[in-house]
Amino acid sequence: MEWETVIGLEIHTQLRTKSKIFSGASTTYGAEPNTQVCAVDIALPGALPVMNRDAARMAVKFGLAIGAKINQTSIFDRKNYFYPDLPKGYQISQLHLPIVGKGSITIDIDGKKKVIGITRAHLEEDAGKSLHEDYHGMTGIDLNRAGTPLIEIVSEPDMRSAAEAVAYLKSIHSLVRYLDICDGNMQEGSFRCDANVSVRPRGQQEFGTRTELKNINSFRFVEKAIDIEVERQIDILESGGRVVQETRLYDSDKNQTRSMRSKEEANDYRYFPDPDLPQMVLEDSFIESIRAELPELPDARCQRFITEYGLSDYDAGTLTANRELADFYEQAVAALPAQPKLIANWVNGELAAHLNRDNTSIADSPVTATMLGELVARIDDNTISGKIAKEVFEAIWNGEGTADEIIEKRGLKQISDDSAIEPIVDEILASNPTQIEQYKGGNTKLLGFFVGQVMKATQGKANPKQVNELLRRKLGD
Ligand code: ADP
Ligand code: MG
Repeated sequence: MEWETVIGLEIHTQLRTKSKIFSGASTTYGAEPNTQVCAVDIALPGALPVMNRDAARMAVKFGLAIGAKINQTSIFDRKNYFYPDLPKGYQISQLHLPIVGKGSITIDIDGKKKVIGITRAHLEEDAGKSLHEDYHGMTGIDLNRAGTPLIEIVSEPDMRSAAEAVAYLKSIHSLVRYLDICDGNMQEGSFRCDANVSVRPRGQQEFGTRTELKNINSFRFVEKAIDIEVERQIDILESGGRVVQETRLYDSDKNQTRSMRSKEEANDYRYFPDPDLPQMVLEDSFIESIRAELPELPDARCQRFITEYGLSDYDAGTLTANRELADFYEQAVAALPAQPKLIANWVNGELAAHLNRDNTSIADSPVTATMLGELVARIDDNTISGKIAKEVFEAIWNGEGTADEIIEKRGLKQISDDSAIEPIVDEILASNPTQIEQYKGGNTKLLGFFVGQVMKATQGKANPKQVNELLRRKLGD
């Protein structure tokens, strides 16, 4: 039987507010345990929550960016459950009236566009953390994260493969960073997702029973976890069994999912409106001031890169997936407006490779946008070849100076003077009579051999175009 996969994601996005959603404690990551907490976060009796205006602002910003309905009145509810890192015994969340209603986002999958529905995005507080390592036989509780604002972004079950789920996750990741509402750091848990997965016979209308996968903290693991879970479900169904609706944990070391708990229902949580918080009412002027602040979004920027700079879909997509990278690119283009495509090649090629090699982010790149623009300008004006430019790039990367300084210091200027190249060409031809004969006998591939010899003799500095022309002329083409 042919099976179809159905996936819906729930993404928890930590908002980049300075203080927590209902208290004045700092949200900075990585501090000594339990130093960034106040009475509200540790649930001292009588401590009362006060809504952080910036968290509402960021949630609305997200809602506007996905074309969603903004609920101008929304309600906070208590979701009751016991866990050591949740000292209140309930999480403040939003059940029936979330701040952000239905919206959508367009993903690109193998060059095809697909619209993924977003059911809702609600505000809630993060829990603390239970620390199992470092405390032999005990569990440590760190409440620094307790009360960090989150939006939970719930998608419709619109994805049909692990690849689509990853593309969707990447689009949301890119978007929240464009909006500057989340730092997007998946290792630190600022951006995390649960995947709901089911399968059904292709052609069937109703969805199959789903499981919810937790603990997937990288794009790669999302793909692997879904694939392995889909396989598991198909195996069960094909051998006549039934999939149990439950929450499963993905173990990336073993690449398997295992049962964690049976699926809880909303009524298990005894949700009710939090009596400590009034309804949240957003004024028109508040929403309009946020709309006015919206930056150019990834899709629009990608389209603009294609039309304005003549880039391919692929190049424009890669450059605009990350706001800092897109900014870097445009700064480099400002330094050399004549060569947008060449600059795109350098940013997506040499620069990306170096960032990757040294595990560095674009913000910390030792080669700045202006420096890259200056380097590419020297290729553009024939001072150096593309090949020599790679050597210069490496030197700039290592802090040896600007392109011009390095070209000067290392004597890398391209030889573009025919009267300087010609004697070298003559010399190479004179010392390779056999190859000349073979060339004239029809083995025209040997042109490359001669070019190589001349380039070698000039340490790569001869202008390759001129070398080609001179050789062809002398070989009687
Ligand atoms: P809950 O409140 O129990 O988490 P929801 O109805 O809010 O359940 O759905 C949570 C997520 O599960 C959503 O992203 C939704 O798209 C997805 N989902 C619902 N049904 C299925 C299904 N049969 N297969 C895959 N995903 C599903
Ligand atoms: Mg859920």
